[in-house]
Parts: sequence; C-alpha cells; structure tokens
Amino acid sequence: MPNKKLIVRIAIPVPLRRTFDYCYPAAAKPVIGGRVLVPFGRQQLVGYVLDFPEETAIESGKLKSIVKVIDSQALIDQALFTLIRWSASYYQHPIGEVFSSCLPTLLNKGEPASLTPEYYWHITEQGIQAKPAKNAHKQQQILQLAKTHDGIIESQSLQATAFSQADLKKLAEKGWFERKAKTEESGAKIKINPSSLTLNKEQHSALARIYAAKDQFKAFLLDGVTASGKTEVYLRAIEQQLTADRQVLMLVPEIGLTPQTLRRFEQRFDCPIAMLHSGMTDKQRLNQWLKAKQGLTSIVIGTRSALFTPFKNLGLIIIDEEHDLSFKQQEGFRYSARDLALFRANQLDIPILLGSATPAMESQLNVAQGKFERLQLTQRAADAKPPHYKIFDVRQRHLNQGISEPLQQLMQQHLDNGNQCLVFLNRRGFAPSLLCHDCGWLAECNRCDRNMTLHQQQKRLHCHHCDRQVFIPKQCPSCQSEQLLPIGLGTERLEEALQQMFPSQVIARVDRDSTRKKDAMKEIVAQLNRGDIDIVVGTQMLAKGHHFPKLTLVAVIDVDGCLFSADYRATERTAQLLTQVAGRAGRGQDKGEVVIQSHHPDHPLLVNLFTQNYQQLSEQILQERQAAQLPPYSAQALLRANANQLEKPMAFLQQVANLLNQYSQISVFGPYPAPMIKRAGKMRGQLLLQAASKKELQQVLNACLETVENLKTAKSVRWSIDIDPQEVF
Ligand code: ADP
Ligand code: ZN
Ligand code: ZN
Repeated sequence: MPNKKLIVRIAIPVPLRRTFDYCYPAAAKPVIGGRVLVPFGRQQLVGYVLDFPEETAIESGKLKSIVKVIDSQALIDQALFTLIRWSASYYQHPIGEVFSSCLPTLLNKGEPASLTPEYYWHITEQGIQAKPAKNAHKQQQILQLAKTHDGIIESQSLQATAFSQADLKKLAEKGWFERKAKTEESGAKIKINPSSLTLNKEQHSALARIYAAKDQFKAFLLDGVTASGKTEVYLRAIEQQLTADRQVLMLVPEIGLTPQTLRRFEQRFDCPIAMLHSGMTDKQRLNQWLKAKQGLTSIVIGTRSALFTPFKNLGLIIIDEEHDLSFKQQEGFRYSARDLALFRANQLDIPILLGSATPAMESQLNVAQGKFERLQLTQRAADAKPPHYKIFDVRQRHLNQGISEPLQQLMQQHLDNGNQCLVFLNRRGFAPSLLCHDCGWLAECNRCDRNMTLHQQQKRLHCHHCDRQVFIPKQCPSCQSEQLLPIGLGTERLEEALQQMFPSQVIARVDRDSTRKKDAMKEIVAQLNRGDIDIVVGTQMLAKGHHFPKLTLVAVIDVDGCLFSADYRATERTAQLLTQVAGRAGRGQDKGEVVIQSHHPDHPLLVNLFTQNYQQLSEQILQERQAAQLPPYSAQALLRANANQLEKPMAFLQQVANLLNQYSQISVFGPYPAPMIKRAGKMRGQLLLQAASKKELQQVLNACLETVENLKTAKSVRWSIDIDPQEVF
C-alpha cells in the first residue's frame, strides 16, 4: 500500500545519491527551497525541501516526521534552486552535498537567514586630538589607520589588519572611537564616474554587440590579446547594466583580481561592490549572500563559488580569464563554474561575457559551432606594442642556477635602461628535493610517491601533495652523512642566486609562500608599480592580469618540464601559461622582450607559439583533438577510487568497468593505477569513460551510478566521479 500522508522530499547533506522522504503536520507545511530540521539516524540534520510527492515507497509506520520548519519563505529562489538541482544531476554528485557546498555555512547550520547589521568604528574629536603614549604602538597605528581612511575603520575589514575588535573596544572606552551601525538602503544611488579613455575601434564594435544583447541570453567570447583593453570592455558592459538597475556577477580565477583592477572598479563605480574571498568570516559570507539576494549589492566579484550567489535582478555574468583551471573545483563537488555560468545565463536569459587572451579549446569550439560569438581585440590598447620573442638554446651552456650567460647580460641591459625584469619559474620552495651525496637517499614523502620540497626559509621539507611538513634533517636518515644537497631549482633558490648576480638591485619574490601574509601581494604590486623593485621572481601567480608599465623583460627559465607530458591538455596549458606570462612584458611605453630558455629550442610548441599566434596554435590543437576524438570533440568522465591497498580500488573499478562495458555508447579505459599511485597514504586507481557526446555519457551514468554506489566493493573504497575532468592525477 503506498503511503498517502503529507509527504515532503528533502535533500540532506550526506554522501548518498538519493533524496529522503519525511512527513509533516498539516499545520506546519514546509516550503520548496526552504530548510527543515529532520531526524537522521541518531542526529538531527538541516535539509533542503525539494518537493511534495504524492506518495512514497516508505511504509507508513517507518515514515518519520520533520522536527521543524526553519524557513517560512523560500530561502533559495526558483532560479538558484534550478541551478543547484541541475548541477547535482550533471556532475552526478549527491544532491544534499551539492546544496550544502553551494550555500553559506551558517545556512547549512540552520542559522536564521537574516542580515546582521554591520558596524564601523568612527574616530571621535577626542580621538583626533589624542596623543597616545610613546610606547603605545598599537594605539598609534590604529589612530593612523583611521586618519588615513576618512576617520572610519570598517568592522569587516579589521581582519585584514593586525587589530581586533577588542583593540577598538578599548579605544572606544577611552572615548576615541564610536561604534556605528551601517545603514543598508535598497535602491542606494549608483554613481558612475565615466572613463576618460576613448575606446578603440575593436573595443567599440565589441561593446556594440554586447549592448545589443543586453536582455537576452547570448554568450560572447571576448578574445583579446594581453593588454588589449578587455577590462575596459567589462567596465563599460557593467556600466550599462548598472544604469538599468541590474546586478552584475564577475568570476575571477583563484588568485583573484589584482589590486589594480579592483581599484579601477572602485574608481569607476560608486556603488556597493562585494568582493567574495577566502578570508571572510562565515557571518560576512552570509551577509553578502543575503545582500545580493535582496538587491543591496550591485556588483559581486568572486572566485568560482560566487557562481551560487542569489541575485534579485542579475543582468550580466562576466568570466575573466575563462580558460583558467581554477574555475573547475577539483575535489568534492567537482563542478566547472564557467560551464555552470553558461547554464545560469541561459536560464535567466541574460548575456554572458567570457574573456581571455588564451581561450580554452572548449570555448574555441563553441565559437566554431556558432554557440558563442567571438569578439576580437587584436591590438594592445594604449599604444603598447606586442613583445618580441626569443628562444635561448641552453644546450651545453653553463647555467648559473638556471640562468644562462646571455640571459644575465640581457637582464643587465634592461636594468641599465631603468626597466624591470620578471623571471618566471613555476616551482616554489628552495629546491624540489634533498639528496644524500654519500648514499643517494632522497627526501621522499612517506605518504605520497613524490619528493618533499625543500623550503629553506621555513626550515622545512614540505610535501606539496599532502601538506606533510617535517624539519630539514641535519644528517641523512639512512647513512648519517651530513652531505645533504638541494637538488633542482625553486623560486627561493633562484631569488638568492639572482641577488648574487645582481647585488645592487632590489629583488622580490612572488609565490604562495611569500604572499601568505595579508596584503603582502598588494604591497609587492605597489612596490613594482612605484619602481622600487628591479627584478621579480615569480610563479604563475604573476602570470595573469597584472599591469606593470616598467616591466620590459620576461624570462622563462625552465620550460622543458612543460613540453613533455602524458596529459593531452599539456600543449594547451603550456601555450596558455607562456602567452599569459609573456603578456606581462612591454605593457607601458617601452617595447617588451620575452626570453624562453630551453634544451629543446626546436620543439614544435615553442616554434609555433612564437612564429604564429595563440589563435593559430589553437586551431592546430583542435585539429589534433578532433583526429584523436578527444574533448572537446568527445565527453569524458573519470572515476577515481582509493583505499589503503591498491587491490581494493582496482577490484571496485574492474566491477564498474564490467558494468559499463555493457553500454555501447561509451568506451571504458582501465582500470589503471593513477599517475600518482600513492597520495596522502592512500593507493589510488582510476577508470576513464568516454562518449561521443555529453548527452550519451549522462545517459549511461544516470542508468548506472546507483548500482555502482551499491556495489559491495564500493564499501571498501572511497570513490568519486569527475565529469569533464581537467586533471588526471
Ligand atoms: P586587458 O584586460 O586586456 O589585459 P586592460 O583593460 O587592463 O587590458 O588595458 C591595458 C591598459 O590599456 C590599461 O592601462 C588600460 O587603462 C589601457 N587602455 C584600455 N583601453 C584603452 C583605450 N581605448 N585607450 C587607451 N588606453 C586604454
Ligand atoms: Zn645518506
Ligand atoms: Zn605527501
């Protein structure tokens, strides 16, 4: 007998690909897109209401009732609700987990969905006159901070400083500061400060196309060489939306907007701009979420998860550096924010603008198939000329810590002309490994099959794959010798070597280690702009977005590692990275030069990249992909599994392979051990699935994954599925 009580279907954040049915009392009907508290096993969990089915397969006596309704109105609007449900189904991820990873933590904890007022501290007359004691450094600094910010210190931004709420409270007790609540007014006046730049022809025609599509779905690929004025196009497109009282969402890569670009936004638009970043507290995150939903924020700028921000009246989505890998989440709910943004724009019937100097192959194909419209900016704006490329053949040449003699001379020339050099090396730390000269012992991570990176400044060996850190041994653990040698070159070591080569120059380093402190990156960028730094050593953190007018030489000192890789995407990625980093050179008045050192100067990728342009190279890459039937000409999914012994994931994956092999629509490759077999103590295997189209792949997965989840061997491994995988290790 089917059960005909009042039934509600709920998504609960547990790792199961299913929904759960409960009943509810007639007097307390939940709402779709709202939260309820439900009993689950021995605990109570917050769930999200999906719908009200007529009947359930659960027997009447076993159907449990919800504990309480948390939201009396839908928390998640229809559009976001559809987006979340579609994401869960496309990425084949448990729906409850998708809801919880898309929404602010406090909502998942069942906290009320109400704005908490934000406060700021305002300096008083007494504070302005105050003369703190000589040794009261903190007081002096706080007063100084307030004085340089119109007398105001925002509670929210305290985190970015060395001060706490408690420090400010103390000063308020002295009568130096007052705490005031911010007033949030809807419909706050938006002021636009027009740009003084005259658009060039290409920018002009690009904008004309974007303007024409202002209230309909249309995907544009803004394909503009580095420094061609893409950001200026974004700003004007945003301007149009703000004038029409609509909101704008801009997604940026993980490394975030450069401080310069943010300043351009703030100067141009006098309106509430929300920057969503990882340093926010849970409360701030919830507040920003609610403010955007209520239409109190005009522009939301954030990394991939900002895609799930609700909006009252969204008019435009911009994806800056659309090719960037960080738009794909690589763990848990593995979604692509770029691809989901397209779904969202389509659903809302609004334009979407994908910008890049090095568009992804997927986007290039979308242009070819007429799904995207390409808008091209082929010239650098502001009179800057494209940089000149050189490949330095370093075979048989003496390398001083990776730097060849001709490169050193060339750097000297640029420095003598009063310009700056960027030395690019995509490997942080001092050296990629530590070796015993006497017995050959190598510092390997005991939890991964990879070497530990030597970080001399932090006096640590650090595994970049599982984050394990240990002190640098004084003696070889195997033979007790003290002859331990750093092997290879990392940014720390390169910085040290350059300082010896150029003793009178100021050298800075930009990588994850050197920029860990709040505002460290901002500080280095400011110094580079002021010309206080002569040489900057950096990883890919420096490759994107930055604009340093005095930087004229970019040197890529070790490209060889990028040229030979088993991953079919390596060519695309290397081309993108090199084009981006090269794009930092010569953005000001002086012409830029790019030097690439290689032991393989005739490698077709290098030759093609510099004799042709990225566009021509990508046509070749696309042809190769088509010939091999690789994405974007086919669809892939990667099943990963791990356990303490390799046999377990392999047995599980073999069973999955047997199951999937029954479907003619897909090809199954593997199972095989992952390229990095052992990681964080787990042995890993994988299975690659490929179909001619995304649709066919989805059909098969929809038909099978529940069976896969219930396989006996599935219980003894951790497994996940990655749709449209970007990385295969
Ligand atoms: P991109 O985003 O393509 O790297 P930007 O928008 O940052 O390029 O522009 C590069 C530089 O050129 C910036 O300093 C910008 O102010 C300037 N610029 C952009 N458009 C124009 C224009 N039409 N005329 C003059 N300068 C411009
Ligand atoms: Zn030894
Ligand atoms: Zn490790």
